[in-house]
Amino acid sequence: MVVVIVTMGMFECTQCGLCCLGISEIVRMDRQISKYGFYVKNEVVGETKAVLVTPEYRELFDTNHSIQAEHKTACFFVRKRTDGKFVCTIHPNRLFICKDYHCCTARISKNDEEIGRVKGKFSLVTMDETLKNIWLESVQKQSKKSREEIISLLHDQGYLIIFYDGE
Ligand code: SF4
Ligand code: SF4
Repeated sequence: MVVVIVTMGMFECTQCGLCCLGISEIVRMDRQISKYGFYVKNEVVGETKAVLVTPEYRELFDTNHSIQAEHKTACFFVRKRTDGKFVCTIHPNRLFICKDYHCCTARISKNDEEIGRVKGKFSLVTMDETLKNIWLESVQKQSKKSREEIISLLHDQGYLIIFYDGE
């Protein structure tokens, strides 16, 4: 039997919101031009765009400021939906920095549950001690391992790793 392991995929945002919670110094509401119209600015590169809060999120935008109350550095435009997911209320018009952002280069799961993320080339973020040890000993300390070798190594230990293209 041939076993096919899925190893590459397009980056998929899980809407955990983390990347929008500490970014208000970089992505900033510049000025308001109408009830739902604003200019948003990337303070680092100076990109400025006129944006409209999308109709489907206007009520949420108006009524729920819990994220900004809890996180002083949260983006002006992020909101939390009742299902716990975070949304960008200007999503179709968001700045390039937001469109282009991928928070990780790979995700690792076990039994269909995400338990780790890889940042950059080899930095692992996980609470799983077994995975941490495997990664340290067999990946980080042997940095010449190819993606295919890492995929196979983790697969043998019951983990599935999906790398995103472009890194
Ligand atoms: S890009 Fe990553 S950190 Fe940001 S919301 Fe999506 S999954 Fe979360
Ligand atoms: S503009 Fe949207 S995607 Fe960008 S930081 Fe703000 S909420 Fe997040």
